Amino acid sequence: MMLKKQKPVIITLSIIILAALLSVIFTLNRLSSSDTSSNINSQKGVLELSDWDFNKDGYTSLGGQWEFYWQQLLSPEDLSNSAPLPSYIEMPMEWNKYNKNYSSNGYATYRLTIKLNEKYKNTLLGISVPPMLSSYKLWVNGNLFLSNGIVGTSGSSETPATNPITNYFMNSNNSVQLILQVSNHNFRNGGTWDKLYLGTQSQMANKRESSIALEIFYFGILLIMGLYHLWLYSFRTNDNSKFYFGALCITLSLRALIVGNKYILTMYNNLSYGWTLKLEYMTFYAGVYFMLSYIYLIFKNDCSTIVRKSCKLLCFLFILITIFISPLLASKFLLFFQIFTLLIIIYTTFVILKACLTKKRGTFIMAIGCLVPIGISGITVLKYLGLNHSNDYSLSGFFLLILLNAFILAMNESKSYKKVENLSKEKEKYMLAEKLTAITFLLNSSLNLEEVLDKLLKSLKELVPYDSASFFMEENNHFNVMAANGFKDIDSIYKISINKEDDLLFKKIYETNTALLISNVKNNPHFKHHIELTTLESWMGIPIIFKDKIIGILTLDSTQKDIYTQYHIDIAMYFACHAGMAIENAKLHGKTKKLATIDPLTNLYNRRSFFELANIDFEKSKVLAQPISGIMMDIDDFKKINDTLGHHTGDLVLNRLSKVCLETLGKNHIFGRYGGEEFIALLPSTSIEDVAIIGEKLRSAVENNPIIIRKSDLIPVTISVGTASITPTIQDLNYLFGEADKALYQAKSLGKNQVISINLDS
Ligand code: GH3
Ligand code: MG
Ligand code: MG
Repeated sequence: MMLKKQKPVIITLSIIILAALLSVIFTLNRLSSSDTSSNINSQKGVLELSDWDFNKDGYTSLGGQWEFYWQQLLSPEDLSNSAPLPSYIEMPMEWNKYNKNYSSNGYATYRLTIKLNEKYKNTLLGISVPPMLSSYKLWVNGNLFLSNGIVGTSGSSETPATNPITNYFMNSNNSVQLILQVSNHNFRNGGTWDKLYLGTQSQMANKRESSIALEIFYFGILLIMGLYHLWLYSFRTNDNSKFYFGALCITLSLRALIVGNKYILTMYNNLSYGWTLKLEYMTFYAGVYFMLSYIYLIFKNDCSTIVRKSCKLLCFLFILITIFISPLLASKFLLFFQIFTLLIIIYTTFVILKACLTKKRGTFIMAIGCLVPIGISGITVLKYLGLNHSNDYSLSGFFLLILLNAFILAMNESKSYKKVENLSKEKEKYMLAEKLTAITFLLNSSLNLEEVLDKLLKSLKELVPYDSASFFMEENNHFNVMAANGFKDIDSIYKISINKEDDLLFKKIYETNTALLISNVKNNPHFKHHIELTTLESWMGIPIIFKDKIIGILTLDSTQKDIYTQYHIDIAMYFACHAGMAIENAKLHGKTKKLATIDPLTNLYNRRSFFELANIDFEKSKVLAQPISGIMMDIDDFKKINDTLGHHTGDLVLNRLSKVCLETLGKNHIFGRYGGEEFIALLPSTSIEDVAIIGEKLRSAVENNPIIIRKSDLIPVTISVGTASITPTIQDLNYLFGEADKALYQAKSLGKNQVISINLDS
């Protein structure tokens, strides 16, 4: 959430950082390779720089006509004493390319005289010397200034070395004379294609330092980016493009140390000329291999399989061959590969452009990312082929590719994360829905209110964590605990009754119809109805709703801080809706069930439910071998009451009489209306003696409680009672009451208002 708001900030920052980065790269590039003197060239071995002010105009390259002595290694002494007639050569250029008569393998001496500005007398100047193929020795004003390798007249006497070197000297004259011996027996060309530079000490030091800084910068970025992609690949091996890209980056990072300033030679100065050269070539071949693999994987459908496979095979073969051949041969092989690379670049550019024109938008950025580095690579290859004299910007080109790739990667990665996120959210939702369905089913599987409430509390625990929970049922503005779970003293919990107006929390839930969260119970002044859990921290009240009406409130208590969130509220509310339905169903069922079992006039069990219950006790008596008694009673001359006082009064008598009898009977006695003005009772664990007493009590209670209608009208009512007692073995309930009925009949015939008992055990 926080980060989302910061998105514009991040984008702005990225743009600023990117701009700063590009400006740093641009500056380093400019410092290391700017060449402000391209139009001043030496004539016949003399470079006229008397008007050149280094401090104003910058350092200068030493291009143009140099004196050239083919197949002679001349020292300053040789040249000052009896100088032979010089030839001239255009610098920088390999001698075999300048003149076909000069074979690539050979040796020569160069001389250049530089006329300097007066200003730079007695100042420290610097010269940067590029790799000379393939060894050299340089004198400045007759003093040995630099050497690289050992110059020799044959392959055996020559030790090749090709480090670029910058060195400094104190200029004491108005002119500087450079004498350069070069020999080549280890490369396909002799001499150099790179320029020498002359400038003040600080200019030349800056030039070298900034170009090294740039190379190390590329090395670091390429290496990290390469490792990152290789690691990505190692964790998700189905994406080959990550592997190729990672491998390309690693290869290029190595190359950043091998080409240019050849910083690797500073780090490992015993690395041989041969292996430096081979490493340079092999990283080139490998770079082309990985780049091709990468591009052809992205634009898979746009390039021919044969071209793709044969190109890759060729790269591989070149790497393999290079390992085993001599540096000289390797340098000759390189020529073929450079030409091959140019062809490949043309083909690949064609492939990318075709894909770009016909394909969806996504390829466009990638196409630019690929075209820029391969375009720059092409220019660089042309430079090495001697067809142009630009600087080597290939690393900068690849840097751009990597920058774009990092952006695309971040974009794709975030897309796939989002996808995964959505998927897991979807799965979570699905599982939650399944659970809710299961719980809803469970809740509706019972019609017993107590059971429903019990299940409600227990199943909710699976979805919303709690330590204790209670369900309060609404009844006349009061909330009474109907179910509880997780409490130690459950009995006292059931005694809780909350007045809606007294409890602000309940009142709020009731009024807002939504769940209420309290995350800091201890500090909430309104929280008072909880009696257990002194360590209570979080509380949630959920309204249980049916048909937009709150029928109860569910409360959850937790000893964990801040445990409840909107997520829990959402679940609880969904749950509350179904629970409300289940509770209402159970309540309704309870009512219907009562209607079916209770006689509405007397509130006694009707005949069917009486016998259902009685049967259970009768069977118990059988098992326990205990006596059990039955009572049948009938109101005497009831017809008369009906006839004289009306049916309504008759009903009233029936109702009153039921209450009198119910009060007379014990708690474990079952009493019901048999039909009309006849009643029936079952007395478990009651012997013949006891039932006779109880029968008599009933009779007298009725007799002594005349029904009062209006102020003083008393209706005397009497009953006849028949009882039967048995310790049942194989008999059934019908037998017992059949006998009790017989006793009743006897009582009637003996004059009514009396009790007759029958002992079935004797
Ligand atoms: P006995 O002493 O022989 O039992 O005479 P009795 O008049 O009580 O008996 P009888 O069976 O002749 O009459 C029963 C009367 O009870 C008949 C009927 O109208 C009346 N009765 C039955 N059910 C009800 C009732 O639900 N309400 C009222 N008001 N009367 C009822
Ligand atoms: Mg009767
Ligand atoms: Mg009667």
